[in-house]
Amino acid sequence: MEHNLTIYNSLARTKQPFKPIHPGHVGMYVCGPTVYGDAHLGHARPAVTFDILFRYLKHLGYKVRYVRNITDVGHLEHDADSGEDKVAKKARLEQLEPMEVVQMYLNSYHRDMEALNVLPPSIEPHASGHIIEQIEYIKKILDAGFAYESCGSVYFDVRKYNATHPYGKLSGRNIDDLLSTTRELDGQDEKRCPLDFALWKKASPEHIMHWPSPWSEGFPGWHLECSVMGTKYLGETFDIHGGGMDLMFPHHECEIAQSVAAQGHEAVRYWMHNNMITINGKKMGKSYGNFITLEQFFYGSHPALEQPYPPMVIRFFVLQAHYRSTVDFSNEALQAAEKALQKILAAYQRLQQRIKPSEKSSVELPDYENRCYEAMDDDLNTPMVIATLFEASKVINDATDGSTTLSADDIERLRRLFDTFLFELLGIRNNEAAEDPKTEKAFEGAVNLLLDIRSSAKAAKDWATSDLIRDKLTELGFEIKDTKNGAEWSIR
Ligand code: ZN
Repeated sequence: MEHNLTIYNSLARTKQPFKPIHPGHVGMYVCGPTVYGDAHLGHARPAVTFDILFRYLKHLGYKVRYVRNITDVGHLEHDADSGEDKVAKKARLEQLEPMEVVQMYLNSYHRDMEALNVLPPSIEPHASGHIIEQIEYIKKILDAGFAYESCGSVYFDVRKYNATHPYGKLSGRNIDDLLSTTRELDGQDEKRCPLDFALWKKASPEHIMHWPSPWSEGFPGWHLECSVMGTKYLGETFDIHGGGMDLMFPHHECEIAQSVAAQGHEAVRYWMHNNMITINGKKMGKSYGNFITLEQFFYGSHPALEQPYPPMVIRFFVLQAHYRSTVDFSNEALQAAEKALQKILAAYQRLQQRIKPSEKSSVELPDYENRCYEAMDDDLNTPMVIATLFEASKVINDATDGSTTLSADDIERLRRLFDTFLFELLGIRNNEAAEDPKTEKAFEGAVNLLLDIRSSAKAAKDWATSDLIRDKLTELGFEIKDTKNGAEWSIR
């Protein structure tokens, strides 16, 4: 089958056919987490979005190198409270080695990603492990004349850059508008222009994460790590750079400026941005009191949550919307996602276990597979894939209750449809229903009840009933063992 993957390129502001630089190979870079706190719902969206892209590119036969960085030297531009690196601050408060804090949050991030069935990237470079490369990159920008040293720090000269290259081309801004809305912030007096951003920042004495450099003991600016690690692992020009829409400005804008200044040309061919998740219409944030970590979702341990939401429900919820549209979280929306997912999985189970193939199908199946490929090719239209799986579920349900018949070939086609699109590409795990605590509890209760009835029957010497229960459970795949303390069961 011929595939024509088109993706929305934020830089061109339009969908474009995807053509990799090196045929058969794709280099993609996605801005990863800042590891100074637990992963929250906002982390799930880019992770799942670019996981879908990663899975689909591999499915199409590309060899993909997927780089997702770990920001572990702090969001220097975003640290409003004290100007101190957030990892360092946390370490000082908890008397921990900074790298211990980084590792703790990184482990927890990985656990959450694994629960969401997000595949690990090919390379996960740490900003703190690439200080030498970042220093070398700053030297290139200085040599090209687009940066200046001031009081031990190095700043990017936005005005000078803008004279020859449009600063703001990705986010559609221009520096006059930006200047009129920029507030005075920390370090302003060291800068030639308020829009200039730090490439290297001199560390203040209380700052415990710092490295030697030609300019001062200090640390690299946040925007720098992505330019440096992206090109280190993917080459001076690479295919795809992704991230949340909130990173478009200033982070990605600064990345473009840095690449042009250091290399003389841009590094990225396709910029992709996922939209944000809001909670009851509001942006998520600690200050709004609606900050919910992924773990709190999984266990239902936040006052705003009416119940636990298994990771697959969160994943399915994210995929029900196109990645470029906003998603609003509410208990109702997640409960609806849970029901929808259960319906699709139940249909798949019926397909596996309960439909007896007929000589021929009494209905003509549309080409669901092709429809799903077309949806994926159209800028990863996952809601359309899910709608198609729903339609196929209805066909399965009709065949299960006997109102229609399906041939062995059609049953096989439907199975392949679910295997490819629901499990392989949307990345839904099939065993989630059993992991849902409510379902598991009901299931265990029902089996125990049957075994209690069996032991009552035995006590009453009603061997017919007791044998019937044992034999039927064995037939269904249970292993029943009689012990001194009653019957024990397991699933073979
Ligand atoms: Zn980044």
